[in-house]
Amino acid sequence: MAFILKDLPYAHNALAPHISEETMQFHHDKHVLAYVNNTNNLIAGTEFEGMALVDIIKKSSGPTFNNAAQIYNHELFWECLSANSGGTPTGKVLEALNTNFGSFEEFKTQFTQKATTQFGAGWAWLSKTSDGKLVVSSTSNGDNPLTVGNTPILGLDVWEHAYYIDYRNARPNYISAFWEIVNWDFVSNNL
Ligand code: MN
Repeated sequence: MAFILKDLPYAHNALAPHISEETMQFHHDKHVLAYVNNTNNLIAGTEFEGMALVDIIKKSSGPTFNNAAQIYNHELFWECLSANSGGTPTGKVLEALNTNFGSFEEFKTQFTQKATTQFGAGWAWLSKTSDGKLVVSSTSNGDNPLTVGNTPILGLDVWEHAYYIDYRNARPNYISAFWEIVNWDFVSNNL
């Protein structure tokens, strides 16, 4: 069973003006489609054919890992965004961030710093460790926290393809916009 490009969980224009319809048309419809097609081509006739996506990520390397991980990363990323959220989280997300980082503002500062300083293509993450702690990190290219045994619960794509149409080279402005559309309900469900 080949992987398919899953639909966005909202319309392409749902996140505008923070992320434009045109960005989504390129990012989801072209970039992520390429990762799906590449993965299917790379795993055909190999031990990875028919394997669950997470298992491929944990067992592969090189181009197969890069493309499979990017399917996972983007499917998570779309769910991390919502037109009707953003701002400061409440309830158990706020409690968990307070417990692990001291405050929401301190978490936001650390996550923003990871996203801003990731050199070149990559991702910023909030992840849950095997003993239930929350940690922030950044990874290069398609890499993600699964490879170190952590479960990502919030991810931000900082590849240029994620923001160049809307923000050109100004990654910090894209990161500021991200905080306006974080889907805290999704993060809460992942805690
Ligand atoms: Mn991307």
